[in-house]
Amino acid sequence: MVEQTLAPGARVGIVGGGQLGRMLALAAARLGLSSHIFTDRDDDPAIEVAGRACVAPYDDERALARFVAEVDVVTYEFENIPAGAAAFLDSQKPVRPSPRVLALTQDRLIEKNFIAGLGIEVAPYAQVDDAGALARAVAQIGRPSILKTRRFGYDGKGQTLIRLGSDLATAFRSLGGQPSILEGFIPFRCEVSVVAARGLDGDFVAWDIGRNVHEHHILATTTVPAGLSAELAARAVDKARRIAEALDYVGVLAVEMFVVEDSAGLRLLVNEIAPRVHNSGHWTLDGSVTSQFEQHLRAVCGFPLGSARAHGPLEMRNLIGDDIFRWRELLARKGACLHLYGKSEPRPGRKMGHVTLLRDAEN
Ligand code: AMP
Repeated sequence: MVEQTLAPGARVGIVGGGQLGRMLALAAARLGLSSHIFTDRDDDPAIEVAGRACVAPYDDERALARFVAEVDVVTYEFENIPAGAAAFLDSQKPVRPSPRVLALTQDRLIEKNFIAGLGIEVAPYAQVDDAGALARAVAQIGRPSILKTRRFGYDGKGQTLIRLGSDLATAFRSLGGQPSILEGFIPFRCEVSVVAARGLDGDFVAWDIGRNVHEHHILATTTVPAGLSAELAARAVDKARRIAEALDYVGVLAVEMFVVEDSAGLRLLVNEIAPRVHNSGHWTLDGSVTSQFEQHLRAVCGFPLGSARAHGPLEMRNLIGDDIFRWRELLARKGACLHLYGKSEPRPGRKMGHVTLLRDAEN
């Protein structure tokens, strides 16, 4: 019989070995949990801080069987896990959040239909299966608009902007002619995310909302507080709560939203759901009573959730590529909490670490 609620000493299996897996493994150690990483890369940053690691392709059932036999619960740090692997793991041990959530968030069309079906506003969108459907979608939604592949998109990959003069057949081909969606381009005032957790018992806790700035489609900074009115912030949290409840979600999730302003005032459009700990929640490591990594583990193990109270105003900055070379200057800076992911090669666009600047600690 598989226990629903675990205790310290249990072993948590984490699928994925990137920086999110690394920070989950570090949080697991603090709670007296062991961690076991499953990844397809032997130089992944989570490996050196986890108790155990299994390196094999994500669809290697024999390796998955060995991995799952050694853990009490399975979670994941990225959402593009093959459906077959998730189903197999779920047949052996609890997978939290559930594979149903994975299937939904792996496909932008299914995800958008789900969010819109809850009565939550999203950007106008249309299904695009071929170049003809793209022409019809552009006629309906207009330009500028964004063509996004339904699957395997992240950090702006699998997206192309349809401008006034863009050739539609070329745009569709540039994404590999894959099933896609067209989204209206939203002239947003700012982007925010609600990072929240839902426990095994249905308890729901959200952190303060972060305001996110992206550069070259990659998150550059998250600022807390986000500068939203209390009323708008409550509306944002309510959307995240409705999404989490509808999914019977267990764990941390991030809901990314656009804040738009029109004659009716400020509105929130949900852009996407990340069914995992999220880059815009990294500030919680230094800026909150309970970090998103600890909270995720508490949720998936069936422990009580911790307080999400923030200590004060702050800014989280990602260290991307060569930014890593600022480590010495950042260490010397008051109020700066530095996190490096142990990656050897600082390639352009690669997330090498982050720093949280605690404003109240700066002087
Ligand atoms: P996504 O992969 O959907 O998270 O998109 C990455 C980033 O592209 C977002 O954080 C926005 O900055 C931008 N973006 C995505 N969709 C839209 C949209 N419909 N309108 C305007 N900007 C968008």
